[in-house]
Amino acid sequence: MRDELLHVSNGFGAAQVQDFAQHPMANYVRDALRASIVDALGIAAGAYRVRGGAGAGRWAAVPWVAVFDPLITTSATRGYYVVYLFAYELGLIHLSLNQGTTAVQAEFGAGYLDVLRDRAALIRARVPDAAAEFPVHVIEFGDVVDGDLPNGYAAGHAFGKTYHINELPTEEDLRADLSELMTAYLTLTFRGGLNPPEEVVVGGEYDVPIAGMNVVEIRRYKYHLRIDRNPSASHRARLHHGTTCQVCNLNFEERYGELGAGYIEAHHLRPLAELEEGVPVELNIERDFAVLCANCHRMAHRLENPADLDALRGIVRDR
Ligand SMILES: [Zn+2]
Ligand SMILES: [Zn+2]
Repeated sequence: MRDELLHVSNGFGAAQVQDFAQHPMANYVRDALRASIVDALGIAAGAYRVRGGAGAGRWAAVPWVAVFDPLITTSATRGYYVVYLFAYELGLIHLSLNQGTTAVQAEFGAGYLDVLRDRAALIRARVPDAAAEFPVHVIEFGDVVDGDLPNGYAAGHAFGKTYHINELPTEEDLRADLSELMTAYLTLTFRGGLNPPEEVVVGGEYDVPIAGMNVVEIRRYKYHLRIDRNPSASHRARLHHGTTCQVCNLNFEERYGELGAGYIEAHHLRPLAELEEGVPVELNIERDFAVLCANCHRMAHRLENPADLDALRGIVRDR
């Protein structure tokens, strides 16, 4: 990845005064640079999406290549993710735990930079160990023309490292930094992501099923719900497992007609107590998911082991 990072940093300035369409540099960011990051992630790459961007229709002010956890986001415009940002005018490459700015700008309007700064502070507070290891808390972009995105990146930056291209570390050290920041990224999600710290899951679509859950259990529970709700996973679970409850055989279309057609809930079966902070979750649709009706799903979460669907089937059968 070292060569690819250098190639973009050194060549982008000359490229961005030329036509964007079909430019080799734009393709390089999307393909070769992206592929080098996938390679650096090693076997963990299967749990992530990696995307590179040099612009859309015209050159971006800041080219980037990002790693997304699909449980959090699949787009650079929202959520939080790990990204390399090229401040090519300054000869700097920022490795950053950063946030999508477009969605925040759309939601909050003029005050969005403050929202991003607040959330960056929340991230630092939530993973203080990683924030201490990645001490760069301010990143700069120089005199880039289009100011909105660079300002957003600067505000959304939680922590990371800044490399000067004249002193770029070895391939091995770059990979180690990426790996450590990915661990911080996953740990952040496990500890509640960007959810406000005072938030406890009560009411709404799911209730906390067990009174007196301690903090770690609440985290695991919310993490489970994130996996359940991962749109691509639940879509694929439905395609693979069908739309009939695998505990009680309820089918929403049979019960509710057209209103219920296609409705079912995905339920993650890997015991979350076995999951570690900062370790990527690879989802296997066949093995790791069941589809349940809304009732059975809630009852599954009241089991001591929510993955033990045989226990739930037994209860239903015995009634
Ligand atoms: Zn059911
Ligand atoms: Zn579930």
